[in-house]
Amino acid sequence: MLEIEDLNSIKEAVVKLNGLKVVTSNRVGKKYGFRENKGLLSVFTCREMEVIVGNIQEGRDFSLETDIYFFELQAKRTVSLHFHSKKGFLIVHDVTEEKKLNEAKLDFITSVSHELFTPLSASKMNVYLLKDLEKDPEKLQILEKIERSLDRMETVIRQSKFLAMVQLGLYDFKMEQVKVKEILDKVLEDLREKIDSRKINVKLSVSVDMLETDRFVFYTILKNLLSNAVKYSYPESEVEIFVSREKLTVKDQGIGIKEEEKERIFERFYRGSEALKMAPGSGLGLSIVKHLCEMMGYKIEFRSQWLLGSEFIVWFR
Ligand code: ADP
Repeated sequence: MLEIEDLNSIKEAVVKLNGLKVVTSNRVGKKYGFRENKGLLSVFTCREMEVIVGNIQEGRDFSLETDIYFFELQAKRTVSLHFHSKKGFLIVHDVTEEKKLNEAKLDFITSVSHELFTPLSASKMNVYLLKDLEKDPEKLQILEKIERSLDRMETVIRQSKFLAMVQLGLYDFKMEQVKVKEILDKVLEDLREKIDSRKINVKLSVSVDMLETDRFVFYTILKNLLSNAVKYSYPESEVEIFVSREKLTVKDQGIGIKEEEKERIFERFYRGSEALKMAPGSGLGLSIVKHLCEMMGYKIEFRSQWLLGSEFIVWFR
């Protein structure tokens, strides 16, 4: 049988309770003041004390994250608490440092992107003004090129910020019932220009009305996959989208992916050799899709044949 002393090397406090009394605890638990025969009320206090006490007394499992004041440490810590009523175990995971670090990282990302956006907006504004004054078509062409580059830069900053937040676990996803048609319509509307300019025929096959997912995550995955399918397709070809309760599939008849490039397409900033010639891009789209899938517990796979087409499949479970 597992003894609580066997848990001395783990970083969480593990406390065995009898009602509200501490029976025993591992080494970390003792550091927080969970000592034999002590009542929980004399070990710590917090705003949710009533809920915690109520759940433990009535033998209900619970998990919550909160700020707790530990009397022995004389300090407030941010912890996540888990109570397993069957075994009478209370597990206390101190996430104070993790939270501080994440806040610092978020602060850094936000500051950097803000510092880049400010001069970028100023440059865009000046190009816009110059374009208005310029009559020479050659110079106008150059200004338009600058404008496109600035737009690309803006996209890269925006996408990098989003990707960093997802990778750091700072994107708070919210599961809800989402109308598939609503998201599809929005994505198609956003990509309308791209779809029409290449005369792509988008075929839809949707066998589910609602999906339990995060609205923005589903939208972002679909938009990136469809945008790629359109970008890397031959003009006037067909792109198919299937959505069912189990999966999302985006299938195209485009240039496909070379065998030797397949293992790199999910890398940050990686762009295929032919893709570079075919359409503008940041090389971040699939990286974002991959990390969003990981965060949601989805599995992504693809099949592709060079010069014949590709199919990306996202399995929801
Ligand atoms: P981007 O499209 O901006 O280059 P992505 O991260 O979305 O960046 O994709 C990475 C690379 O994967 C692309 O540059 C391209 O080589 C390849 N790729 C992705 N989707 C497709 C597709 N549907 N057809 C062909 N190649 C694709």
